[in-house]
Amino acid sequence: MPDSIPAEADWERAPSLVDGAMTLELSPATCNLQYWLAAVPQGTLRGQILGHPQDARPLDAVRAPGPLNQALTQELAFRSIAEEKATRAIAHMVALAPDTDTLEFYSTQLLDEARHAMVFRSHLLQLGVKQGDLAEAVERLAGQDRDRVLVPLEDFGLHVLRDNHDFIGGVLVLTILVEGVLAPAAELSERKWRIFDPAAADIERGAGIDEIRHLSVGSSIVRSHLLAHPEDKPRALELIQQGYALWEKLPSTELVRRREDLFQQGIEEHGHLLGDYEAWPGRRLVDTTAEERVATGHAWAERMQRARLRYMGLEEAT
Ligand code: FE
Ligand code: FE
Repeated sequence: MPDSIPAEADWERAPSLVDGAMTLELSPATCNLQYWLAAVPQGTLRGQILGHPQDARPLDAVRAPGPLNQALTQELAFRSIAEEKATRAIAHMVALAPDTDTLEFYSTQLLDEARHAMVFRSHLLQLGVKQGDLAEAVERLAGQDRDRVLVPLEDFGLHVLRDNHDFIGGVLVLTILVEGVLAPAAELSERKWRIFDPAAADIERGAGIDEIRHLSVGSSIVRSHLLAHPEDKPRALELIQQGYALWEKLPSTELVRRREDLFQQGIEEHGHLLGDYEAWPGRRLVDTTAEERVATGHAWAERMQRARLRYMGLEEAT
């Protein structure tokens, strides 16, 4: 039934995450449970439970111990914790959802994030982690980063959702301060790992397609709310400023930079495997530097964030 799969959720036809999140308009009424059932399990995922074709595997250069293995396992462990925290936080959004469409949409987002946590974590098993050591490995690879970056963000979000029961505040935190900031890193990751580990790149691609929907619908909820309640705008802007101030204090650039430095060592050792593959149009991945990749991710994030804030009617926040 390929006709029933909307283009933005279709593996071949979906735009890239950053492009899609900058241009698509999707509402909770469109992206309800019926939409998700048709678009995601049979569409985006094409029935692939682990997020990639059965036979997709990391290259030996990534599977064996070394900088590429370290870079990818650290990233996957960190991302799986982040997705698990998102899943738990979204449970509050389901509880606070003001109507059936938003209840259904956040129920699907909850499942999307639980799935992301699962596929990121499961892929560690392809990278030398033993099933019985999985929980320990995640802790060893990303426990410190979780405490330094994810826990403060989670506390910020839970204060809004669990303590203040503020649904729109929760949408703002999730859409602008969490997914809006992190999404471009996910796109960069898909592009970086495409050759070294096609399975990981496909896992990222699938999560990225979900993310287009999360960002678009979240933004549309904020936009409609502010059109109906312009008096809430100062409060929204204040929350965003608080969130940006928190990000300033978090060592997130240091963490991204550490992974890119490892990736760079991997390019030095195994760059011949990359051939002429381009990280982005006109730029061969093998020629990029750690600094350049970090800067490119930042630039994508800013461009995307600016476009979305303008759409929401919150351009003052930029
Ligand atoms: Fe996610
Ligand atoms: Fe998401």
